[in-house]
Amino acid sequence: MIKVFIGENSGFCFGVKRAIDKIVELTDKKEKVYSLGYVIHNPQAIEKIKQKGAEIIENPEDILKLSNQNSQSKNGITPIDGKVVIRTHGVKKEITETLKKNKVDFFDATCPFVTRSQRIVEKLSDQGYGIVIFGNPEHPEIVGVVSYAKTKNVFVVQKPEDVELIPPMKKIAVVSQTTQKLDDYIEIVKKLIEKGFEIRVFNTVCEVTVDAQKEAYEIAKMSDIVIVIGGKMSSNTDKLYKVCKNITSAYKIETADEIDPSWLKGKKNIGIVAGTSTPDWIIKDTIKKIEEITGEKVKIQRVGKKNKFSAESFEWE
Ligand code: SF4
Repeated sequence: MIKVFIGENSGFCFGVKRAIDKIVELTDKKEKVYSLGYVIHNPQAIEKIKQKGAEIIENPEDILKLSNQNSQSKNGITPIDGKVVIRTHGVKKEITETLKKNKVDFFDATCPFVTRSQRIVEKLSDQGYGIVIFGNPEHPEIVGVVSYAKTKNVFVVQKPEDVELIPPMKKIAVVSQTTQKLDDYIEIVKKLIEKGFEIRVFNTVCEVTVDAQKEAYEIAKMSDIVIVIGGKMSSNTDKLYKVCKNITSAYKIETADEIDPSWLKGKKNIGIVAGTSTPDWIIKDTIKKIEEITGEKVKIQRVGKKNKFSAESFEWE
């Protein structure tokens, strides 16, 4: 008998579920759907929605070209023959504004936690605050949030040393990418105090990811090995992996087929954690694969407490 520990907050969060549900609802109604960017960072889930008929516009700015091709109006980009869905990470402000201005039929699946960061940056920059954003400058969420700043004084930092390069400012507002580790954000804030007279700190780290990281830590302590499931581009999956590998052997996979049988040899306590964009079916496949490889039954033990923003168990037909 093998014990498998699984975090209560592994798998879809409400932001991801809301976006996927909407696309499935539209494709089931046979509507043409364009996803503006990868709606979530999980290639297998993206493949599923493609099979259902959704089209992915990889670079959100291409929506303008596409709509021009389809346009029957001289100046605008309407009408577009379908519904546009904005990804959970959000897009640049000008893209949303263009969609609105041209009356494109769209559903904004930007996670409300990301929308909150966008609003803070917009409002505080308008009030004369310099903006500091902790995150990966190339991540779509950060590209979007930066675009809401109404100032040139906007700085994206990835580590405490980056703060040293920021010029002193009277007033500073700081936000974090939703999927960053809270402890790392605190280190940034500590450094930032030297940079201004007034620092306004907003806790924009998503609480589902905070809880998932705490669980990953507990699971890693109990396990001989942890399998971390999620898309290679998924920022929150990467954080979970980093938490686990500091404690025990940890391996990152996108699908169950990637499990190397040698990882499981002689292991009796196996942890499974999954990012917030990892579909249920891949978690289930992983459990089955563990049974298959080891030839033993698994006993599942859930770890942690479900956050209110975690999605209920998601079944995909
Ligand atoms: S991980 Fe958090 S911020 Fe990201 S989509 Fe899910 S609920 Fe929203």
